[in-house]
Amino acid sequence: MYAAPVQDLIDELGRLPGIGPKSAQRIALYLLLVSKDDAARLTQAITQAKERIGWCQRCFNIAEGPECDICLDPKRDPTVVCVVEEPKDLVAVERTREFTGLYHVLQGAISPIEGIGPDQLRIGELHRRIAEEAIEELILCTNPNIEGDATALYLANVLRDSGVRVTRPASGLPVGGELDYADELTLGRALRGRTAVD
Ligand SMILES: [Zn+2]
Repeated sequence: MYAAPVQDLIDELGRLPGIGPKSAQRIALYLLLVSKDDAARLTQAITQAKERIGWCQRCFNIAEGPECDICLDPKRDPTVVCVVEEPKDLVAVERTREFTGLYHVLQGAISPIEGIGPDQLRIGELHRRIAEEAIEELILCTNPNIEGDATALYLANVLRDSGVRVTRPASGLPVGGELDYADELTLGRALRGRTAVD
C-alpha cells in the first residue's frame, strides 16, 4: 500500500502499547507532514532517553546513572520501602507527598494470562535488599486489580519469615484499577492507614 519506509514507520509505531493499526497509520502520515526539525527532535528525544536512562541498580526505578535520585537522597528513610509495579506507580505515590522512604520497583506484576511469573519480576533483588539493607517495613503498594493483588499475596507469603514488617495500603483505592487512577488524597489516606499483612 505504502512505500517501504512509510510502511516500516507504520509497523514500528504499531508495536507501541495502546497504538492500533489505524493510529499507527495516522501518526506516520502526520510525521511525514511535520518539518525535518520537528521530526529530528522526536528521534533525538528517543535516542537521548535510551542512551542516558537506565534502571537504578538498587530499586529499579528509572535512573540517569547507577542509582536514581530517590535512592541518592540522604533525607529519605531507608528503613521503609514501598514496593510498586512500575515507575509510574512510584510517581503516583510521590505525588501524595505522604511517603518519605525508599522504593522497590518490581517492573511488572504476576499475570498467568500474560505468562508473567515471579521469576520475571525483581523479587530476587528485593530479597537481596532485605538481606543487605536495614529495611524494617515493606509496603506492598501494587495495583488494586487482579494481577496486583496476586503479586501482593505472593510477596506476603514469601516474606512471611523475612523478619520485616509487611503492610498494605488501607482499602479505599478504586478497585480493578491502577494506582495512578487514584487521586493524591485517596492514595495518601490509603498509605497513612496501611495495615499489617498477616
Ligand atoms: Zn533507586
